[in-house]
Amino acid sequence: MNSSFTKNQIRMGKVFDVPLTFDFSWFVILFFLTWILAGSYFPKQYKGWDAAWYWIVGGATSLLFFFSVLLHEIGHSYVARKYNYNVRQIKLFIFGGISEITQEPKKASEEFFIAAAGPIVTFILAGIFYGLAYLTKSNIYLFALFHYLGVINLILGIFNLIPGFPLDGGRIFRAIVWGINKDFKRATHIAASIGRVFGFIFVAIGVLEMMAGLWVDGLWIAFVGWFLESAAFSQIQRQEITKLLAGHTVEDALSKAYGLVPDDTTIAEFIENELLIRHRRFFIVEHKGENIGLLTIHDVQKVPKHLWETTTVKEIMKPLSEVKTVDVNMPLVDALKEMDEEGVNQLPVVEDGEIVGVLTRESLISLLTQQFLSKK
Ligand SMILES: [Zn+2]
Repeated sequence: MNSSFTKNQIRMGKVFDVPLTFDFSWFVILFFLTWILAGSYFPKQYKGWDAAWYWIVGGATSLLFFFSVLLHEIGHSYVARKYNYNVRQIKLFIFGGISEITQEPKKASEEFFIAAAGPIVTFILAGIFYGLAYLTKSNIYLFALFHYLGVINLILGIFNLIPGFPLDGGRIFRAIVWGINKDFKRATHIAASIGRVFGFIFVAIGVLEMMAGLWVDGLWIAFVGWFLESAAFSQIQRQEITKLLAGHTVEDALSKAYGLVPDDTTIAEFIENELLIRHRRFFIVEHKGENIGLLTIHDVQKVPKHLWETTTVKEIMKPLSEVKTVDVNMPLVDALKEMDEEGVNQLPVVEDGEIVGVLTRESLISLLTQQFLSKK
C-alpha cells in the first residue's frame, strides 16, 4: 500500500539507484503545456498545418521537454551519487524537478559540481536539439519540435543560473562564496537572501504582465517567483532551526505523554476512561502486552456516535506496520524532516524495536524554545 502510490504521487523506477517520483501536478502541467503549444504557440509560429499535427507535435514537444527536465535532475543526482551523497528521490512536480539530496554538502567543490551538473546537461540538450533542428530543416514538423526544445532548454539553462538559492545558480554561487570565506552558513544565508530578492522580482514582473493583460504568462511567472521566495525563506528558517537542534537526538525531545489501551477496548470505554481523564492525544494499542497499533484523537473522531459501543480501538487504530517511526538515536533535524514528509504532528519513537515514547511538534517546540532562550 505504501510502496508505489502515496499522497498524489506515483513512484516509477529508479535511475542510478535513485527513485523517481511523479507528482500529479506534473501531469497537469504536461497536459497544460501540450494544450498551449497545440492551441496557441505552434499555430502562431507555423500556419496552415492540419489541426492534428499541432497536437502531435505539441504532445511530442511537451513529452521531450519533460524528459529534458528529468535528464537535468539525473545530472544532479548522478554527480551527487558519485560523491556518495544520499539522494532520497528525484521528484517531478508543477515547477519542474527536484533532486532531493538529504545531506548538507560536505565540500564547496562537491556542491559546485552537483549544482552545475544540471545546467550543463540542459545546455548540452539545447545544443543537441538546435543541431537536430538544423538537420531536419526540410521537415517542418520535426524542425518545429526540435527548434522549440532547443529554445526552451536554453531558456531553462539560463534561468537556472540565476544566482539565488534554491536555483542551481544560487547553489553554485553559494559554493563559490563558501569556498572563498569558508563559512557555509554565511554563504547559505547570502545565497538564500538573493534568492528571495529574485523571487520578489519575479512576482513583480508577473503582476505587471497580468496588469498588461497577459494573464497566463503573468500568473505563471508570479507563481514561480512565489515558489522561489518561499523556498529561499524556508531555507533560511531551516538553517536557524538546524542551528538550534544541532547535536540533539530524538531522545532529547522524547515525550512519554502517551496512553496505553488494550485492543479490545470499545470506543465508548476509551473515551470515558482514557480520553476524558488522561488528556492524552496519542495512544498505543496493546494486545497481551505487545504494541500493535496507534490511535489518535483524529481516528476516534471519524467514528459516528452510535457505533461507539460496538467498535473496538483495534478496528480504527493504525497498525504499527503501517506507521512511520523514528529511532531514539536519530538526529532531531532528520526526525523533523520525516514529520514534515509524512505530514503528521507526532511520530512514535522506537528503541531496539520497542516503542519508548512519542516525538510531537509540541515537544520539539519546547526544546527549541529552551535552546533559543539559553543562547540569548
Ligand atoms: Zn537543477
